Amino acid sequence: MSFNSSLNIYDDPTFRMACEQFGFLADYLGIDRNDRDRLMLPKRSVAVTLPVHMDDGSTQTFQGYRVQHHLTLGPTKGGTRFSPDLSMGETAALAMWMSWKCALANLPYGGAKGGIMCDPRTLSRRELEALSRRYMQEMIPFVGPHTDIMGPDMGTNEQVMAWFMDTYSVYQGYAVNEIVTGKPVSVGGTEGRREATGRGVVYLVERAMDMLKMEPEKTTAVVQGFGNVGAVAALSLGLKTGVKILGISDAFAAFYNPKGLDVRAADAWVAKHGSLKEWDGGDRVEPKELLTMKCDVLIPAAVDRVINESNAAKLQCRILAEGANGPTTPEADRILDQRWSEVFVIPDILCNAGGVIVSYFEWVQGLQAFMWSETEVTDKLFRIMEHSFTQVIQRAKRHKISHRTAAMAIGVERVLKAKQSRGLFP
Ligand code: NAD
Repeated sequence: MSFNSSLNIYDDPTFRMACEQFGFLADYLGIDRNDRDRLMLPKRSVAVTLPVHMDDGSTQTFQGYRVQHHLTLGPTKGGTRFSPDLSMGETAALAMWMSWKCALANLPYGGAKGGIMCDPRTLSRRELEALSRRYMQEMIPFVGPHTDIMGPDMGTNEQVMAWFMDTYSVYQGYAVNEIVTGKPVSVGGTEGRREATGRGVVYLVERAMDMLKMEPEKTTAVVQGFGNVGAVAALSLGLKTGVKILGISDAFAAFYNPKGLDVRAADAWVAKHGSLKEWDGGDRVEPKELLTMKCDVLIPAAVDRVINESNAAKLQCRILAEGANGPTTPEADRILDQRWSEVFVIPDILCNAGGVIVSYFEWVQGLQAFMWSETEVTDKLFRIMEHSFTQVIQRAKRHKISHRTAAMAIGVERVLKAKQSRGLFP
């Protein structure tokens, strides 16, 4: 599938990758040519310039984006990424994946994504707050609890969501906590949201281990990325499931120990020092090599396209659980398809759906001014993850297709069906 070159505002390797995945899927499903572009291309996108007074007295301008992929099933929903490399195209790719993810989980949303080109680690707290508030202020005409609901993603956290919620609420004149999810519980966030993505990843890893008859005490894992998703997954897998965590990494350092790492100590270190840069709890290894080191479960939980044609044939894991969005390129997929009996892939739109599922619960609670307990939230989360997992595995078996193709097919078909019922507008 090629998209019209006049639409080059999205041109970016990650967007091309999302389009290639969609094109493959559209051929597989035999989707009519007339339906393809309107299914694939974002419905609405906005770019904003954000001037901020910096602590040194200068004024810096930052670039922000928000992409709403489709409006067919309800409001759009998606995270906000603060990253120095963010582009409109990457934002659009992430919004497209959100669409298939929400549809797979049967959530009444289209996908969205947004963010700012910035390195939040180099900003003071005051600068970060000013930038976050300015971004939301610029977004006010574009978002709303029934239009587009933001959430956290890489580089943002509960505090940033609280600033978003406050900025939007000040403008409205009353507290609108359903405008964002992933907020602190003290301002209408839900119990269990922060842990939801990592917990969902671990739930599906356990299901896969069960299917493959792997015993937790004899199982090892490597986790790339030690943030919201990666750290929760490593802690939960290591401390609750009883799997030995051999490797962890973040943007600064990677560690491996064949006897196992103390992930609780790593987590405490990051809470105090902000990263694993100076941690000395294991042997340092080349970050790129971590992915191909021997382990049973590999969890990429950082950036996209890290599993590609250069390393897909070298993966030594039995289960690849995609905590990150888009960690595996189509070239790597073709290699992994050949290795289907060696590597059990839990594709991103299934594996990391826990975050948006609990965000949906948070939004529903906000709209109804209702509070669920953490047990209720986690129980409902696992029920949806279980249903999606079963559907994907059954479809893959029945049609002899990869787990990714099965997961995307379920999501894309749902959106297509809704578009066909509604007409051309959404
Ligand atoms: P985060 O900002 O909390 O943590 C990201 C981690 O990855 C940090 O430890 C960072 O240092 C590390 N990292 C960054 N670049 C790296 C690199 N090149 N190599 C190794 N580590 C690197 O972000 P997060 O919320 O945990 O998101 C991680 C991934 O999970 C992203 O792809 C995101 O889109 C996806 N995701 C997040 C959620 C969520 O609820 N937060 C939900 C679904 C998917």
